[in-house]
Amino acid sequence: MDLNLQETEQLITSMGEPRFRAKQIFKWVHQKGIFRFEEMTDIPVVMREKLESTCTLGNLEVSAKQNSADGTTKYLFKLYDGHAVESVLLPHDYGISVCVSSQVGCRMGCGFCASTIGGLIRNLSAGEIYSQVINIQKESGKRVDSIVVMGSGEPFDNYDEVIKFIKLIISPEALNIGARHITVSTCGDVPGIKRFAGEGVQVTLSISLHASNDELRNRIMPVNKRYPIASLMAACRDYISVTNRRITFEYALINNFNDSTEQALELGRLLKGMLCHVNLIPLNQVDEREYRQSNLSRVRAFCNTLEKVGIPVTIRKEMGADIDAACGQLRRRAAKGEITPGRG
Ligand code: SAH
Repeated sequence: MDLNLQETEQLITSMGEPRFRAKQIFKWVHQKGIFRFEEMTDIPVVMREKLESTCTLGNLEVSAKQNSADGTTKYLFKLYDGHAVESVLLPHDYGISVCVSSQVGCRMGCGFCASTIGGLIRNLSAGEIYSQVINIQKESGKRVDSIVVMGSGEPFDNYDEVIKFIKLIISPEALNIGARHITVSTCGDVPGIKRFAGEGVQVTLSISLHASNDELRNRIMPVNKRYPIASLMAACRDYISVTNRRITFEYALINNFNDSTEQALELGRLLKGMLCHVNLIPLNQVDEREYRQSNLSRVRAFCNTLEKVGIPVTIRKEMGADIDAACGQLRRRAAKGEITPGRG
């Protein structure tokens, strides 16, 4: 699953088989969701046996599943080494979107997030990220239209595998998802943003901002001590000028912490004139964390203030609120033994 078409061709020819077999295998895996060589009926039996004994298709295993009344489905996948990651299927009126994890755990330490509580366990490979999408497509029987790299992990802390995943999934031989239908969310890894700007892919960048000044942001996002807001904004401006893509700023509203009118005005000043959009998220409360969700009237007031100063803003529709759909929640509950493995 980690190999792109070129690498698959190299593997196949190194086995002494004709190059075109790679495309056939690719079709089975990526377009038909077949992960067993023995089912690839247009490949000669002898070659299938050879593949079976030398390669694996490293497929993930669904170890838990939660369905929300709004159609959101959360999957807990078991990896080959027993670790677990979460992914979410989100049905929108414009199609099916899948939120994938990029790491097992996370080392960014954001104070409101469940994914980072146990630290970083390991990076996911491109194929493991990709497999989340392909498995959800197979499980749900629905064609995935867009991807958000917004599950557990910091994508730019696993840069090479994430970019490989993106290039693989947008390739016509694989899922052929348009780059514009892919969003990568970062907590503000400035070198990552700079590198990403140079990739020449039309992917949407999303920045988890959550605070309008350094003092506040330092308290909830340790990454800000390394890359303060001014350096982050400079990188974002460069990203916009290179790619001409609009950036999304995520802002989770935390009760009496970052949700006042003054803070909305400060955010407005920070973003004034930028090609951007603010996505307000009512905080998903995590048991282990003390931060509480702002009430709806404060969310609306914050939104109105931003609108008044001319910043494009939306309030994110809360999906899957009746299941553990927030980052890292399902994996933590499973680790604490609160979820019995199986297809629940
Ligand atoms: N590490 C990346 C991507 C994963 S987190 C990033 O930070 O962007 C995906 C998004 O969920 C981020 O915007 C993150 O700040 C947000 N998030 C994490 N925990 C949350 C919570 N409890 N409530 C609301 N949003 C949360």
